[in-house]
Amino acid sequence: SVSGDQALENIRWNAEGLVPAIVQDAASKEVLMMAYMNRESLERTLKSGETWFWSRSRGEYWHKGATSGNTQKVNSIAYDCDADTLLVKVTPNGPACHTGAYSCFFNEIALNESAGEAAAAPSGSDRFAMLSKLESVIAERHAERPEGAYTTYLFEKGVDKILKKVGEESAEVIIAAKNNDNDELRCEASDLIFHLMVLLRNQQLPFDEVLRELDNRHNKKKNG
Ligand code: AMP
Ligand code: ZN
Ligand code: ZN
Ligand code: ZN
Repeated sequence: SVSGDQALENIRWNAEGLVPAIVQDAASKEVLMMAYMNRESLERTLKSGETWFWSRSRGEYWHKGATSGNTQKVNSIAYDCDADTLLVKVTPNGPACHTGAYSCFFNEIALNESAGEAAAAPSGSDRFAMLSKLESVIAERHAERPEGAYTTYLFEKGVDKILKKVGEESAEVIIAAKNNDNDELRCEASDLIFHLMVLLRNQQLPFDEVLRELDNRHNKKKNG
C-alpha cells in the first residue's frame, strides 16, 4: 500500500481538483453512493476515519452524516489503475442516501429482452447467488429499518433476540432431522441460515470472512 501523502501526489485530480469516490459497504460489498473528494476532503477522511466529500452544489466540505447521523467509518481506501477514481470501503452507520435508502443506486434500468434472459438463467456456479442477495437485503434492512419488516424487528430487539432465534432454529433443525422430515428440514435450515446471516450483519462480520475461513480450511486439508 502507499502512504496518504504518496496517494495525494499520485491521484489525478480533474480540472476542478476533484476525484470521484465510490463508497462500498465493506461487509455486504454493495455499492452505496458516489460523491466527489478534493485534496482537503481526502485528507480529512484519512485523518478522521470517516468520509468527507466536496459538495459541488453547495460548494462546501461535507462530512457524510453530519446532519443525518449516518456517518461512514472508513475500512480502506484504494485508487484505481489510472488513479482517477477512489474506492472507499466503509461500515455505514445507517442509510447512505439522503432519501433514506441503504444505497443510492435504487433506480434500476430495465435491460432489453435478450440480456434479461441471460441474467434470468444462472449457471451452476451461481447457485449461491441467493445468499449474496439475502446478504444485501439484510444489510438494506439494517440500514433502512423499514416498518413492519421482520428483519427490522430483529435488529430493533437487538443481539439477545437474534441469538435466541439462532438457538431456536438450530434446535428445530435437529428435531426435523431426527424426525427424518425433509420438508420440515428444508424450512428450518432456511430459518437457521437467515438468522445466522442477520447475526453476522449485527456483529459486522462480513459473510466473506466466513467463506474465506472455509476456503482456508479446505486448502489446509489439501496441502496436508
Ligand atoms: P448527511 O451527510 O447524511 O447528514 O446529509 C446532509 C446532506 O447531504 C443531505 O441533505 C443531502 O443534501 C446530502 N446528501 C447526503 N447523502 C447524500 C448522497 N448519498 N448523495 C447525495 N447527496 C447526499
Ligand atoms: Zn480509472
Ligand atoms: Zn442518494
Ligand atoms: Zn424455524
